Amino acid sequence: MPVSVAIIGSGPAGFYTAEALVNSGVDLSIDIIEQLPTPFGLIRGGVAPDHQTTKNVAKKYEKTALMDQVRYYGNVEVGRDVSLAELRGIYDAVVLAIGAPRDRKMNIPGEDKNGVFGSADFVGWYNGHPDFRDLDPDLNVSAAAVIGVGNVAIDVARVLVRTKNELACGDIPGYAEKPILGSPIDDIYIFGRRGPVEAKFTNVELREMGKLEQSVPQVKAEVLPDGVGDLEDREKRLKERNLATLREFAKRQPDELRKRVHFEFYASPVEILGGDRVEGLRLQRTRIEDGRAVGTGEFFDVECGLVVAAIGYRSDPLEGAPFDEKQGIVPNDDGRVDDGLYAVGWIKRGPSGVISTNRPDGIAVAGYIIDDCGEGGKAGRKAFEKILKERNVRSISYEDWKKIEAAEIENAEGEHPRKKFVTVKEMLDVLDRP
Ligand SMILES: Cc1cc2nc3c(=O)[nH]c(=O)nc-3n(C[C@H](O)[C@H](O)[C@H](O)COP(=O)(O)OP(=O)(O)OC[C@H]3O[C@@H](n4cnc5c(N)ncnc54)[C@H](O)[C@@H]3O)c2cc1C
Repeated sequence: MPVSVAIIGSGPAGFYTAEALVNSGVDLSIDIIEQLPTPFGLIRGGVAPDHQTTKNVAKKYEKTALMDQVRYYGNVEVGRDVSLAELRGIYDAVVLAIGAPRDRKMNIPGEDKNGVFGSADFVGWYNGHPDFRDLDPDLNVSAAAVIGVGNVAIDVARVLVRTKNELACGDIPGYAEKPILGSPIDDIYIFGRRGPVEAKFTNVELREMGKLEQSVPQVKAEVLPDGVGDLEDREKRLKERNLATLREFAKRQPDELRKRVHFEFYASPVEILGGDRVEGLRLQRTRIEDGRAVGTGEFFDVECGLVVAAIGYRSDPLEGAPFDEKQGIVPNDDGRVDDGLYAVGWIKRGPSGVISTNRPDGIAVAGYIIDDCGEGGKAGRKAFEKILKERNVRSISYEDWKKIEAAEIENAEGEHPRKKFVTVKEMLDVLDRP
């Protein structure tokens, strides 16, 4: 009898686990269970719509999805349609690959004002994620602040200043493209508590900010240090490249183009200002002591009508799985959580790294499953399908998803690669067409 494995979540971590299991050559039956009808997690709903080449990694995942041993069950939410305890009862191994979909809070006064968003919601909105399509942020403002100095902060700032031409080859939904292109935002401030060396941007993303059609990057030369300090070789090279890019930015003139993205280091937000709506941000200057940002007691205000906090993510607890509230992950020993229960990707290690950082997680856990689960023996897929049928849960197969995708491609206008369906109903309606 094949070893039966259920992988909850169809993002990179889930797919890398399935791929490693398939590659093991062991007799396995692998079911990928996804809450949305659409697969690929943050590849579809997080990676920026103007970065289509990055999204191409999904083609590799598709090869795994189409393997004989693998079956995709979209539109099935664990915790709603079926419980984790039930899955553990019927599968030899269950892998949590559910990501980290919630924003970390800034925990400052005024965070609940209108016009303040976490990046998970904001990025989900411009990526057509069904949960965030109704966010409707007011972009009729002249300045915006993005908190955080990682690639997500850069994504948000870049997408907000893109031109029609620059968005043309991406899959941003029309409801987001229209207000972005019509927005009078001229200044975006990216604030980081720490300095340019500590910032987590990767260099390709940072450099891209210097090549935009209507926006010029701004950074004050006096905050850029002469060197990056004592770091390991690889880290040192990366940081030196960022510093060189920022030095180039420091030479750019503010009036070169219509819009500006200001990189503001050593500034920590302390309060969102305004009435019901955000009107500005109060920040405290910081300096680095023993690697930590500490306040200097000097405060300043910036006027802005939109704030997006891109300061990290945390996972949601899943009933039946242990949860570390402080770290926002499932506690685990290199992916082993409990007998027959494993974790990979952001739910395992928190929101760090790039897409391929999730691959070693999948390889390690596939190895543990093969070591731990012996000859298998649990009914797996057959018992799972029985539960779905008894509860009238409408699951989406990979072939169904391909029909949805084909309709998205068919509906595409101009150079856009697809016109995303942004509600579950629209997706299911495609399958109900005669
Ligand atoms: C805004 C943003 C942009 C990024 N851009 C890049 C980039 O350009 N390049 C790069 O290399 N990396 C990028 N990353 C990082 C990359 O997306 C992550 O490393 C990767 O997606 C993490 O994979 P994961 O499988 O752990 O989680 P996810 O991709 O989040 O996948 C989790 C999946 O689990 C599903 N799920 C959750 N709960 C349940 C449940 N109860 N039942 C069933 N299914 C469930 C979710 O719907 C989702 O499909 C970006 C991240 C973010 C947030």
